[in-house]
Amino acid sequence: MNNSKVFVGLGSNMGDRLENIRFALMELANHPEIDVIKSSEVYESEPVGYTAQPFFFNAVLELETKLDPWELLDFTQELENLAGRERTFRWGPRSLDIDILFFGDLVLKEPRLVIPHPEIARRRFVLEPLVEIWRDARFPDGRLVSEALEDVSLDQVVWRVGDL
Ligand code: ATP
Ligand code: CA
Ligand code: CA
Repeated sequence: MNNSKVFVGLGSNMGDRLENIRFALMELANHPEIDVIKSSEVYESEPVGYTAQPFFFNAVLELETKLDPWELLDFTQELENLAGRERTFRWGPRSLDIDILFFGDLVLKEPRLVIPHPEIARRRFVLEPLVEIWRDARFPDGRLVSEALEDVSLDQVVWRVGDL
């Protein structure tokens, strides 16, 4: 079976945010069927949507894996739980969030898994780290991800805080 090139977005706005992001990186890297190819810097971002919550730390990783998308989702949700995530409400504060952004060329719209992640183009905190590590990224319709970054609102404040 071939490896798939996968991008995941990491987020944390509870507890030790940097530690939580690093925990995800370490656990993904330690999985026997996942290789971490690249990691972005860490960014801090103002919450969007539900704004009455602490600022987030965000990062994006490029992975290679033999897992299928559901196996990867199971594993990333296990990591969220291990990081102490409590499921309160959607978009609420969380110690760790791992979203699958791209999974090779796969386009999937299942109840439990939508790929590419449908919000990428609207979220500066995803676009900045994604374009940092994958300059030529394109959506399935051919649009450059870097163009989405040019179009996304500058009202969404995002800045680099350092290496992961
Ligand atoms: P958003 O997906 O808008 O960023 P969220 O990350 O807060 O919101 P969660 O509560 O973490 O949402 O996840 C809700 C559900 O989304 C998960 O149980 C999972 O089954 C589903 N899901 C669908 N597509 C994806 C994806 N590409 N990556 C991760 N989870 C996904
Ligand atoms: Ca998310
Ligand atoms: Ca999520």
